[in-house]
Amino acid sequence: MSTPTAFQRVMAAIELKEPDRVPVVPMVTYTTAQLIGIQFSEALYSAEKMANALVAGYKSAGYDGIYVGWESSFNLMAEAMGCKLQIQPNNIPFVKDQQIKEQSDLDKIKVADPEQDGRLPLHLKAINLVKEKIGENVPIFKYVPGPLTLTSILRGQDQLLMDLVRNPKLVYDILKPATESSKRFAVATVEHGTDIVVVADPIASSTLISPKTFDQFALSPIKEVLKAISEVGGIPSLHICGKTSPILERMVDAGTRIIELDYQVDLAFAKNKVGKKVCIEGNIDPVSVLLNGKPNDVKREARECLKKAAKGGGFMLSSGCEVPLNAPFENVKAMVSAAKKYGQYPI
Ligand SMILES: [Zn+2]
Repeated sequence: MSTPTAFQRVMAAIELKEPDRVPVVPMVTYTTAQLIGIQFSEALYSAEKMANALVAGYKSAGYDGIYVGWESSFNLMAEAMGCKLQIQPNNIPFVKDQQIKEQSDLDKIKVADPEQDGRLPLHLKAINLVKEKIGENVPIFKYVPGPLTLTSILRGQDQLLMDLVRNPKLVYDILKPATESSKRFAVATVEHGTDIVVVADPIASSTLISPKTFDQFALSPIKEVLKAISEVGGIPSLHICGKTSPILERMVDAGTRIIELDYQVDLAFAKNKVGKKVCIEGNIDPVSVLLNGKPNDVKREARECLKKAAKGGGFMLSSGCEVPLNAPFENVKAMVSAAKKYGQYPI
């Protein structure tokens, strides 16, 4: 039997089967700037530089899928909806002034048009460029903002956490354009060549809100975006940072085919709980291991992940969250070589 392509390997895992080995897809975006000798901020306004760096990362490490993106999808989308970003020399842009200070400010935000607004078109172009350079055999992943987290960016995180209790109406009112913007962007990313669209919703984490609050505010908007992705032929994935053990079943029921789990979740627990229903992706600690550790630490942690979740298929090895900006690329390579060495099936 011939060796499967990366695309076939990832698809087998999504179909809950065992490919030739465990696919490895680190969440690497801006970390690749170092490989082509540019500063992170140089690619913020250049689809070409972004695509060149991402392709250099893929060629250097040889992983099984490419995350096309450069900065948090929330700020990117908030900008497209009318917020001003604070751009810093070599750090991630952020929203300086929240757009919605009171109910009447709702008029100040608009549903984003992915082909027109902010730098969304630039990100869509980067997807096209990566696809052109890499071809059809490597799947493209793309983050889109989870509606509740996008709402927190438009309103301010502390304020939103208070609103969940004191002003739910305002939360629902902001969630509407946030969900619609995320949906439209998700659909556009598929039209431009994305295979797997990842809804990232860190605020929906059990680290920040209770499962009950998750049901009240986060779940249906997430469902809507995941459904829109499936309807246009994309593969939906759901990424929630931090602790998610209490909401694993809810995440699966939202209609995703992959769940991306952060390092706080025990993979053996997750595998046992939902491993027969959904493909699990994760979960090497991005900061203490990938940023601050050595390649040997990465290999050790990768083996732990494989031991806990690889058996039976339906698993992709990855980082628990975005690989940090200044993480040594050797550590990303160590993750890939660990998957190739220790992730061969049967395990
Ligand atoms: Zn995360």
